[in-house]
Amino acid sequence: MANILVYALHYDGAINKNSQGAISEAAKLAAQIGGEAHAVLVGSGISDDLAASVGTYGAKKAIRVDGPEGLAQPVVDALAKIIGGGDYGYALFGGGLLGFEIGAGLAARLDAGVAMEVTAVRAEGGKLVAERPILGDSAISEINYRSAVGIIIGRLNAFEITTGGSPAPVEDVSVDFSEFSTKATVITRGEQRGADVDIEGADILVAGGRGLGNAEGFKLAEDLAAAFGGNSAVAATRAVVDAGWYPYAAQIGQTGKTVAPKLYLAAGISGAIQHKVGMQNSENIVAINKDANAPIFEFSDLGIVGDLNKVLPKLTEAVKAKKGS
Ligand SMILES: Cc1cc2nc3c(=O)[nH]c(=O)nc-3n(C[C@H](O)[C@H](O)[C@H](O)COP(=O)(O)OP(=O)(O)OC[C@H]3O[C@@H](n4cnc5c(N)ncnc54)[C@H](O)[C@@H]3O)c2cc1C
Repeated sequence: MANILVYALHYDGAINKNSQGAISEAAKLAAQIGGEAHAVLVGSGISDDLAASVGTYGAKKAIRVDGPEGLAQPVVDALAKIIGGGDYGYALFGGGLLGFEIGAGLAARLDAGVAMEVTAVRAEGGKLVAERPILGDSAISEINYRSAVGIIIGRLNAFEITTGGSPAPVEDVSVDFSEFSTKATVITRGEQRGADVDIEGADILVAGGRGLGNAEGFKLAEDLAAAFGGNSAVAATRAVVDAGWYPYAAQIGQTGKTVAPKLYLAAGISGAIQHKVGMQNSENIVAINKDANAPIFEFSDLGIVGDLNKVLPKLTEAVKAKKGS
């Protein structure tokens, strides 16, 4: 029997959306290889209800570790200890900057094989095979594991969330953190212009590129995101981040974040391959560009050829009117 261990990130009393998908995927796969999915929560003062809620997504056990949340090394300590003391064939969790760092640390600690940016996993002969897009997402590589434990880190929000399970029993495990793991502490969660909303978890992203003209041009994107309201945020290309118009935390692409919102609205973005790899899994892509031949139109569901300085304010007004605000 090979169980699957999942790291469940949580914030403000809720399991992160990316982790909900990872638990759901692990539960589905574990059933196919004759095991169970167990979810690990690290943090201080985690309530019974929050821990047990991982069962909603199919975890058969919640493992609660009292320790610092939001830093990679303490989580590596916790996962390594739990894997060492149980029957685990795989560790699977969602990507994102923290997930990738934990995955790399755990692979080094356990001398285990690791695949990052995984978009699909299948069970074959009682083992798991991970699929990972390569070469700018133009081909898929398949990863089989030879190590005792295989580590699978999903691309952000790659796994579908399924609910309907019952609350999971909660087990407390105490971990002696390594000295180096506790050298860093989270002092505060800061806010930065454009980074106060979680772009990786946003349902609607208004992304701005060099076509916005300058840093002040981002006001047009922010106004539209504010009109949408709810879970919407502003994102950016590397060109504008490098120019200092918007913070790195909002950068989408090969050297930024990977997102998959319900709506990705690109304003003044050419659609370079390095940008595309970070947003192409969005459910609906709408692009505004004054150049009808811009590459972004090749992978957009809807394209508007026009000057964003005219189109964005009109869109903002239209959204406000529709919402009656
Ligand atoms: C190793 C490497 C890694 C990289 N990583 C990333 C990454 O992670 N993310 C990323 O985004 N890029 C990345 N890049 C950079 C990438 O190649 C592009 O240079 C960048 O994405 C271009 O940004 P842009 O679309 O904002 O600018 P541009 O390519 O300059 O495009 C601006 C667009 O705005 C349009 N436009 C101009 N004015 C208006 C207007 N008034 N109305 C409407 N449209 C207008 C233009 O027609 C044009 O299509 C990377 C490059 C390398 C080499």
